[in-house]
Amino acid sequence: MAIATINPTTGETLETFEPHTPEQLEEILAGAEAAYRGLADTTFEQRGAWMRAAADILDAELDEVAALVTTEMGKTIGTAKYEVSKSARGMRWYADHAAEYLAEEHPVAAGDVGASAVSVRYQPIGTVLAVMPWNYPFWQVIRFAAPALMAGNTGILKHASSVPQSALYLGSLFERAGFPAGAFQTVLVEGGAVAPLIDDRRIRAVTLTGSVGAGSSVAEAAGRNIKKSVLELGGTDVFVVMPSADIAAAAAAGVNARVQNSGQSCIAAKRYYVHTDVYDAFEEAFVAGMRAQVVGDPFDEATSFGPLATEQVRRDTHELVEDAVAKGATLLAGGELPEGPGWFYPATVLRDVTPEMRIFREECFGPVACLYRVASAEEAVERSNDSDFGLSSSVWTRDDEEAAFFQDRIEAGGVFVNGLTASFPQLPFGGIKDSGYGRELSAFGIREFTNVKTVWRA
Ligand code: NDP
Repeated sequence: MAIATINPTTGETLETFEPHTPEQLEEILAGAEAAYRGLADTTFEQRGAWMRAAADILDAELDEVAALVTTEMGKTIGTAKYEVSKSARGMRWYADHAAEYLAEEHPVAAGDVGASAVSVRYQPIGTVLAVMPWNYPFWQVIRFAAPALMAGNTGILKHASSVPQSALYLGSLFERAGFPAGAFQTVLVEGGAVAPLIDDRRIRAVTLTGSVGAGSSVAEAAGRNIKKSVLELGGTDVFVVMPSADIAAAAAAGVNARVQNSGQSCIAAKRYYVHTDVYDAFEEAFVAGMRAQVVGDPFDEATSFGPLATEQVRRDTHELVEDAVAKGATLLAGGELPEGPGWFYPATVLRDVTPEMRIFREECFGPVACLYRVASAEEAVERSNDSDFGLSSSVWTRDDEEAAFFQDRIEAGGVFVNGLTASFPQLPFGGIKDSGYGRELSAFGIREFTNVKTVWRA
């Protein structure tokens, strides 16, 4: 895939970029290693001050940064602003909490292990490569960069080829804020150039957010090199609605859960399991909500959601819908490719989806919901867990015992009761099965790329 800004609203190529040459890559790797030696010796206070300064720059440049995001990948200007300010908040969170997350621990009395003193320390490991996607071009990167830099690691960002200007902005942000040159840099390369970077001895670990295919190839390279990896891959998250739920609230949230970011979110709800007692009422309200979505110019405040980010994502989305309809699914809303320029796709609802249809198992990264009727909480859990993915889930019930039943049994990295799945700097984020491994955010996220060092003294 060429490295280029192609405006998804018009399909127009605005700017193309040459991939970095081997010499430029060498300079970046050497710069990262040199910066690491200095950064690892700085204090949390110093790094926190630089991190807060970087957050201040983001806030000050919010309008232009948000416009860049909307131009490069098509999300509405309102959601782009929200993403950029959320990124600044995440940076401040780690500036404030990294020292506490990585504080020295004394897990046992020294005498219990025959020592006079014993402790566990969290120390940086070196340069971490971050392979990131286009769907949240700032937040996905910051949730890696903020903890990594606060831990004393240096970072190299290989961003998606469709958001090169966001990538270049992020590649200079931290140095502008005071971090040493080389502490956080961008490489402009395509996906195929990632494995040789992982082979380089100066890269100590790698994190990837993206598709299962890309994750598998990164994990393979990391495994071959005995390097730590964290993978945050896709999901086919469930949205379960039980009879005790507030159906109007569930339907409204269910629509948002599916169309957020034009449906291009790993934690978007994709499979809706609705109890038969409330199925018809939910379907009616949900379909009405999906039909009411205004799809259009992402710079227009009246727009609910903009185009899909790339022509390929729209093609993939429509193929899944066409496959399902050809095999007998009922189309309740959307499903037609609009005329005109841009990669727009309507809010789409499918019913009567069966296991022969690709969308039954595959992740659909567009605004397409599949509604299923279930007879019981047990059936909802069984069908939720019948998936290759396990990222998160949303359950709607006002019955506490029922909520506990789902919390215990859903196989996923998260269960959100009466709310949409979301990411918070304060809470761990990640999945199981094909959704990946390791965790981002919170104390868990910052510890992923540290050396957990045992110190024992006789
Ligand atoms: P990819 O997984 O291809 O892209 C994500 C990142 O991985 C990009 O930086 C990409 O670089 C890079 N990459 C691609 N192939 C490789 C590889 N073999 N080795 C190392 N890095 C690689 O996602 P797409 O953009 O193609 O989207 C396809 C699907 O992926 C979506 O439909 C969705 O299902 C899933 N996805 C999930 C995301 C999530 O949040 N979990 C985010 C984005 C996509 P480059 O752009 O240069 O190819």
